[in-house]
Amino acid sequence: MTVKEAITTTPASSATFLDELRHGMPVSREEACRLLHCTDDELPALLAAALAAKQRFKPGVITYSRKVFIPLTNLCRDYCGYCIFRRDPGEPGAHTMTPDQVLEVARAGEKMGCTEALFSLGDKPELAFPEMRATLRYLGYNSTLHYLESMCERVLRETTLLPHPNPGLLSAEWITRLAAVSPSMGLMLETTNISLLGSGRAHDNAPDKVPAKRLRTIEEAGKQSVPFTTGLLIGIGETPEDRLDTLLAIRELHRRYGHIQEVIVQNFRAKPGIPMQDWPEPTRGEMLRTVAVARLLMPEVNIQAPPNLSAPYYGELLDAGINDWGGVSPLTPDFINPEKPWPHLQHLQSRTESRGYILRQRLAVYPEFLAAVTARPGLLSEKVRAAADREGYAGRTKAA
Ligand code: SF4
Repeated sequence: MTVKEAITTTPASSATFLDELRHGMPVSREEACRLLHCTDDELPALLAAALAAKQRFKPGVITYSRKVFIPLTNLCRDYCGYCIFRRDPGEPGAHTMTPDQVLEVARAGEKMGCTEALFSLGDKPELAFPEMRATLRYLGYNSTLHYLESMCERVLRETTLLPHPNPGLLSAEWITRLAAVSPSMGLMLETTNISLLGSGRAHDNAPDKVPAKRLRTIEEAGKQSVPFTTGLLIGIGETPEDRLDTLLAIRELHRRYGHIQEVIVQNFRAKPGIPMQDWPEPTRGEMLRTVAVARLLMPEVNIQAPPNLSAPYYGELLDAGINDWGGVSPLTPDFINPEKPWPHLQHLQSRTESRGYILRQRLAVYPEFLAAVTARPGLLSEKVRAAADREGYAGRTKAA
């Protein structure tokens, strides 16, 4: 049965499939799979159902986080086929930031109304590179994670920004330690397809991209009730069924622990200089279908898609049911996709408002997860309280 048949078939309840979807009918795996494969004619009905779900969840509002991007180190022991960020020691552009550089960026962001310090870094570079071990020794740390923890703590203590670290795989102990200095953290699941670890595929020579290991990190964050950002990366060699399995794996963890604060649907973009530079990018239709199905599968989870990766047509992502644009910086470039600059915040605002929404600045932790953070005593709780307004959004919002 095609989606159209599913949509137009009148079930016993006498409501159409579409009406039921629009009214929050749970979507089975089989139905979600059909929706991912729907025809272009059927797409508007899918988008309408996803949009209705979004509006039930968070009517009239789209959020973003005004952030600075802090690429603590771009050395990484993994070699993902789509990555332009990573470097080996000695390669042009290889860099580990000093503490002064970290604080300088954070303070500059503070002056521009940013409330999030997004720490992005390679995974465990010291395990592969003696040069990184020497750098860490010079800085006075045993590992990259020790250095990250210290920088999160300093940003938290010395600025009004809230850290959001993305350091790769984490043990239970490291989740506990980083959760003491950051209100949320993140790890993209990317995909549950283990065949992408195979020779010549996207995760060939990327030991930290084993899906079971990434699921374990996300689960451990759940056990500790840490607000967590994850998501999928589409167009790296996976099938639509893999995308569905990835979404279902995230949903299952969220059902068990209730800690997934947002799911990012990120689309692969080809760029010169990466192993997958000639790889076809996912189409606009694939992106819209994936976002819409993510929304229908997780109607009460924040769904995000980065606007710069769908520019200039990013407004369409609103029609597919996202409710968040993710981190957007007025200061630092997107180091992961440097060829795709973030839209100017004024542009993002007018594009959002033209579709009838209010654009609101959120913190690194979403309003509905604030209580989990502020319930704990200490500096982090104080800083989060100070940063939030009464509704849990950013309290120091500046004009875009
Ligand atoms: S995507 Fe992340 S883990 Fe993979 S090579 Fe780049 S920095 Fe390393």
